[in-house]
Amino acid sequence: MTSPLFAAIRDEILASGPIGLDRYMGLCLGHPVHGYYRTRDPLGARGDFITAPEISQMFGELIGIWIAATWAAMGAPADVALVELGPGRGTLMQDALRALTRAAPAFRPALHLVETSPVLRAEQAKRLGAAAPVWHESIETLPQAPMIMVANEFFDALPVRQFQRATRGWFERLVGLSPDGTALAFGLAADPDSHIAATGPDGVLMTLPSVALDIVRGLSRRVVAQGGAVLAIDYGHVRPGFGDSLQAVRGHRFTPPLDVPGVADLTTHVDFAALGRAATAEGAGLHGPVDQRDFLFALGLRERAERLGRDASQTQRDAITAAVTRLTDPARRRMGRLFKVMAFADPALGALPALPGKT
Ligand code: SAH
Repeated sequence: MTSPLFAAIRDEILASGPIGLDRYMGLCLGHPVHGYYRTRDPLGARGDFITAPEISQMFGELIGIWIAATWAAMGAPADVALVELGPGRGTLMQDALRALTRAAPAFRPALHLVETSPVLRAEQAKRLGAAAPVWHESIETLPQAPMIMVANEFFDALPVRQFQRATRGWFERLVGLSPDGTALAFGLAADPDSHIAATGPDGVLMTLPSVALDIVRGLSRRVVAQGGAVLAIDYGHVRPGFGDSLQAVRGHRFTPPLDVPGVADLTTHVDFAALGRAATAEGAGLHGPVDQRDFLFALGLRERAERLGRDASQTQRDAITAAVTRLTDPARRRMGRLFKVMAFADPALGALPALPGKT
C-alpha cells in the first residue's frame, strides 16, 4: 500500500476489527502525524483543490458585506465575536475584514478561528495576524458572546457514517482489509443498527453526517442563547437523498477513497436538509438554503466586478469575468448551483441579507 497511514489503520483493524467510515475519515484527515490536514496546505493550483475565496477576492469581500449587514440586523452589539470555522489560508477573512472596515467602520469584533491544522494556522497567522485572532481546536471553547460565524467548505470535511439498507435493516458500512490483508476494503457490519429510523429501498446507501450534526446542534444552542448567526457555504444537496457522495481528491483529480489514506482529501456532499432540521430542533431560525449564484448576485457580485474592472487592464478584466463565471456558473459540477448557502440564527433576528426569510 501506498501511504504511511495505511500501516496504522491496518494495525487498528487487525487489533479490533473493521472501523466505521467516521473513524476512517477522522484518521485520514486528522491523524496527529499523518492526517491530511495536519501535514499540508491542500489549497490552490499546486494543491489538491481550490475554493471560492482562492478564486477571487470578491468572494470574501461580499461575505464581509454580509457580516456587516448581519451585525446591523443584530442591533450592532459592541461585544460581538467574529468566528470562522476552518479558515483555510485565511484568505476569505482577510478579504472580508477589508470590506468590513469600509462598510461598518464601527464594527470592531474579536476574531476567533476554529482550526485543527498547524500548517493552515500558520497561513492564517500570515494574513490575519494584525487582527490578533484567537485559535480554537473545537467550537467548545468559543466565547460566551453574540457571534457571527462563517464556514466555507468546512462541513464537507467532517467525518460521516454510512449505512446500507437490506431486508433486515440498516447495516453500517465499515472499512476492513482485503482478503490478503494488503489493501483496505469496504464491508458491512454483521448486525443491523437499531437506531436508524429512516426507510429506503433495499441496497441503498445512506449518509449520516454525525460530526456535522453535533456541531450544528452546539452552534444552534449558542446563537439561541447568546445571539448571532452562522453562515454555512458548501457543496451539497437541499433534499435528502440516497447514494454515495464520499469522494477523494488528489491533485485536482478524483481517486478511490480507500487508496491512499491521509494523502488524498476526503469529503462528502453536505446534507443541508439534515443540518437545517438539527438547527431548528434546537430552536434556531433557518434562512435558505439558496444557490451560491443567487446569494452572490444578491450581495452585489456584478456591481463589485464592474467596479474592480474599471481601473484594470484588459487581462485583469478578463480574469475578473472568468472568476464571476466560476463562482456562479450553474453547470453541473460548477460552483453556482452545486454550492448552497444557508444560515441558522437567533430566532429573534428577522431576515438576513441575501437569504430568503426565516422558516
Ligand atoms: N474555508 C477555507 C478552507 C476550506 S478546507 C476555504 O474556503 O478556502 C477545510 C478547512 O477546515 C481547513 O482549514 C481545515 O484545516 C479545516 N478543518 C477540517 N476539519 C476540521 C475540524 N474537525 N475542526 C476544525 N477545522 C477543521
